[in-house]
Amino acid sequence: MNSSGRYKAIAVIDTIEDKILHQSLELTAFINQIYQGSTSGLLLVVTGRNIIEECRILADKSGFDIAAVEHNGFYYPNPDLLVKTLNVLHEKYRPEIFCLTNTIRNCSAVSAFSAECGLQCITGIELVSETDNGLMLQRNIFNGKLKEKIIVSAQQLAVTVNPGAFQLKQDDAHIKSETFIEKVEIDEEVSGYKPVSISESSDMESSLEDADVIIAAGRGIGKPENLQMVRDVVRIFNNAAIGASRPVCDNRWLPYRHQVGVTGKTVSPKLYMAIGISGSQQHIAGMKNSQCIVAVNMDAHAAIFSVADYIVIEDVNVFIPVFLKIYHERKR
Ligand SMILES: Cc1cc2nc3c(=O)[nH]c(=O)nc-3n(C[C@H](O)[C@H](O)[C@H](O)COP(=O)(O)OP(=O)(O)OC[C@H]3O[C@@H](n4cnc5c(N)ncnc54)[C@H](O)[C@@H]3O)c2cc1C
Repeated sequence: MNSSGRYKAIAVIDTIEDKILHQSLELTAFINQIYQGSTSGLLLVVTGRNIIEECRILADKSGFDIAAVEHNGFYYPNPDLLVKTLNVLHEKYRPEIFCLTNTIRNCSAVSAFSAECGLQCITGIELVSETDNGLMLQRNIFNGKLKEKIIVSAQQLAVTVNPGAFQLKQDDAHIKSETFIEKVEIDEEVSGYKPVSISESSDMESSLEDADVIIAAGRGIGKPENLQMVRDVVRIFNNAAIGASRPVCDNRWLPYRHQVGVTGKTVSPKLYMAIGISGSQQHIAGMKNSQCIVAVNMDAHAAIFSVADYIVIEDVNVFIPVFLKIYHERKR
């Protein structure tokens, strides 16, 4: 039990430019599961530059207690300031659990904070269950091939939760007649991290959302030159587009507007062909609702095969040229 007894859990709600990112409210569903149907003792923490009005709206809608943390540096996500904020909240409330949405910035903040304050840190949670040995948290490891089950051993935990893993239901809201908004003060000069602006890509045109067919390339294509054969497959179909896993975009082989997944686009085409994609939970979250999934991978145990309707266990450098050759021969 926490020493103050006031809050058992603290959930950090993500914002950008003083707007709440509503997907992070799924954290309340996660807490609901941890405490078996109860969200009393949950404090939502909302950061921003001028965030009080947004907090009032959220408080009216959700009924949760809310701590507003206002700082100029929080107009954009800021891991440095978040570490500082978590420290202040830890000192003040000593909750059993801090939870954040699994984003790269939150992972970096939560790991630094846990190391500083000696909390057990677990990132990327997607399942919770109670076992005879205590609370068990599950996450994917090795790009979704294995599931790691971790029995919580510490008194205090800091975790990140995968977006989409815990669905928000109406009854997860803890409606109270009165909610409470508390302002938490953070020193002005604590961050060396100074985001200047967030801008959209100059080339916003994307056909991914509207495409009937998506041919998606993963790191398994090996080199950017091999995108040509992926494009040759795209050309076979009407209304088709090229998709990508994150490493393909991180490596600048394709722009980020092609990325499919939790931090990319969510798509549901008639046909999704995954070429050289391992099938991490983050990628699968963005394409699992496709009507038909074909996966090409030379690893017979690739996680992508668990969601595929048709699997091809082969080197892409062998399969794609043969596939194109047979297609063009038959078309003649
Ligand atoms: C917070 C967060 C958000 C993320 N968001 C996203 C997201 O939105 N989208 C996303 O995609 N990822 C995302 N990721 C990254 C994700 O965890 C994986 O690292 C990524 O999806 C792996 O991409 P990949 O499958 O292309 O590469 P890898 O995991 O490296 O897999 C490559 C695959 O290609 C196969 N292969 C290799 N060579 C060949 C060959 N010659 N022929 C056939 N198969 C071959 C291998 O067997 C392997 O399965 C995110 C990660 C984090 C932490």
